[in-house]
Amino acid sequence: MDKQELKKYKEKLLKIKDMVQGDIKQLEQDSFSKTQKEAAGDLSSHTLHMADMASDSYERDFAFDLVSNEQELMYKISEALKRIDEDKFGKCLDCGKKISKARLNSIPYAGLCVSCQQKQEKKEGKK
Ligand SMILES: [Zn+2]
Repeated sequence: MDKQELKKYKEKLLKIKDMVQGDIKQLEQDSFSKTQKEAAGDLSSHTLHMADMASDSYERDFAFDLVSNEQELMYKISEALKRIDEDKFGKCLDCGKKISKARLNSIPYAGLCVSCQQKQEKKEGKK
């Protein structure tokens, strides 16, 4: 993979990282203000806000895939950034084959090619 492309993926990963960091902060703030509101007995606005948050998460412009929570996503992103620095980015961690660009474009933090990913999911009993 050439440097130009690596740079593109790096920028993408950093952007996602920023978003996720913002999200984590937001969630922390929300759970804090939720407690305050519940203490004040204001349950109706809380319900409305949860609906807002749900629709928000569907409007993401990146694939929130392969992970079950944001901490895990943060981990995957930093691992991918490390792979860029070590010049290992874009290769499957398992079989060493190239990960397709289409896959990297939608999931830039993917560490496995599609077939290894499927194998792993079977092993983990997903799907
Ligand atoms: Zn593989």
